[in-house]
Amino acid sequence: NLTDRLVDTFKNLRGKGKLSAADVDGTVREIRRALLDADVALEVVKDFTARVRERAMGDEVSKALNPAQQVVQIVNDELVTILGGEARRIQFAKNPPTVIMLAGLQGAGKTTLAGKLAKWLAAQNHTPLLVAADLQRPNAVTQLKVVGEQAGVAVFAPEPGNVGAEDAAPKSFFGGGGGNPVKVAKDGIKFARDKQYDIVIVDTAGRLGVDAELMKQASDIRKAIDPDEVLFVIDAMIGQDAVATAKAFQEGVDFTGVVLTKLDGDARGGAALSVASVTGRPIIFASTGEGLDDFEPFYPDRMASRILDLGDILTLIEQAQKNFDEEESRKVAEKFLTDTFTLEDFLGQMQQLKNMGSIKSMLGMLPGAKGMREQLDNFDESEITRTEAIIQSMTIAERRQPKVLNGSRRVRIARGSGTTVTEVNALVNRFEQAAKMMKTVAKGGVPQVPGMGPI
Ligand code: GDP
Ligand code: MG
Repeated sequence: NLTDRLVDTFKNLRGKGKLSAADVDGTVREIRRALLDADVALEVVKDFTARVRERAMGDEVSKALNPAQQVVQIVNDELVTILGGEARRIQFAKNPPTVIMLAGLQGAGKTTLAGKLAKWLAAQNHTPLLVAADLQRPNAVTQLKVVGEQAGVAVFAPEPGNVGAEDAAPKSFFGGGGGNPVKVAKDGIKFARDKQYDIVIVDTAGRLGVDAELMKQASDIRKAIDPDEVLFVIDAMIGQDAVATAKAFQEGVDFTGVVLTKLDGDARGGAALSVASVTGRPIIFASTGEGLDDFEPFYPDRMASRILDLGDILTLIEQAQKNFDEEESRKVAEKFLTDTFTLEDFLGQMQQLKNMGSIKSMLGMLPGAKGMREQLDNFDESEITRTEAIIQSMTIAERRQPKVLNGSRRVRIARGSGTTVTEVNALVNRFEQAAKMMKTVAKGGVPQVPGMGPI
């Protein structure tokens, strides 16, 4: 899944002092793949990765102590932003009743949501009325009545349906409507106003796929009742179809907010990301099961964590980095102790040091770091480059056994690396001294540098 993929990606950044452009590219490529696999729409992925890339290449990361974690943080920030930033609540009408219309494909979870929403609002001392304006499916009215009964709220329906008499569903009211969903919706609102219900939730019909007739019906209902909120209900498991469906409903009916359902399944939230991003409408509620209590206001940061498991990732990166550092130091110490530290290892250490070269420019921007800056000025990157060239001109055997470096080999190496024999000699001497000194340190002793005392 997306989280695992991203964790793997970020693990590859372990032990990096600074991210190169190639590191960022690799990471962004993985994020892109992972998001596409999580069914986030391509246009959204492109946008998203472009923003992450820009920020990951920027100063905030290059100055960070831990660039990998910084990149994770950026990905998380951007996810939260796309998902709407702050949580958005239902907007209530100044003059009740507040009218909430539900729209979406068949099976999206509208009728179930009507019950959940009603129960939730009733618990906050509202008096909701459910209106059954889905006359398409034979059982739709009955289903809403059952849901209303479970939620303990009143239902306005066109006719008794097959639940039975009014005593079987004591809070159902029948208003006729002659099989016309627009009229049922209007009558329902009039009824709510008369009887002083302060919220009306209008359930509408859906089709299996987007079609013109359905859109027109939903749009007609909207025009007739002028709702305070139109909630587009979408199944989070719908995957790549989410964008086309959301766009069709936005054009055909338009909506003020989105409700994601079936988040209890294994959808990782790709649909959420796509729909929020493509429509620019906030996600207001999340539905997480078939039960009437499986429902909550939508929190962008929680969804971002669901997609990314930020906490997990940060811990894993930290762990990976710590293990990496410890493992490295342990390996190197062992090599010193057993006299197996080679020029190859020396080269590896030097290359790590080179990654720190940019520290110099960073310190240049900090006040009060003058002393350190001077020390770092003595740290010459071109010298490291020459040393690298010398070691790279050696055969593998020579790097592993510097003792074999006789005069003619040194001449060959100097020529191959564009340096002088004096420089080659100096490097070999430095290496031997360093190895001796480090062996003492690894044994736990204090190395003596002639004329300087203990360092
Ligand atoms: P409608 O056609 O849009 O009105 O959808 P329904 O409310 O009839 O729901 C269709 C099916 O999805 C029903 O079997 C519901 O029990 C189920 N359902 C609705 N919401 C959820 C949810 O959040 N999680 C799960 N697992 N099932 C849900
Ligand atoms: Mg329904």
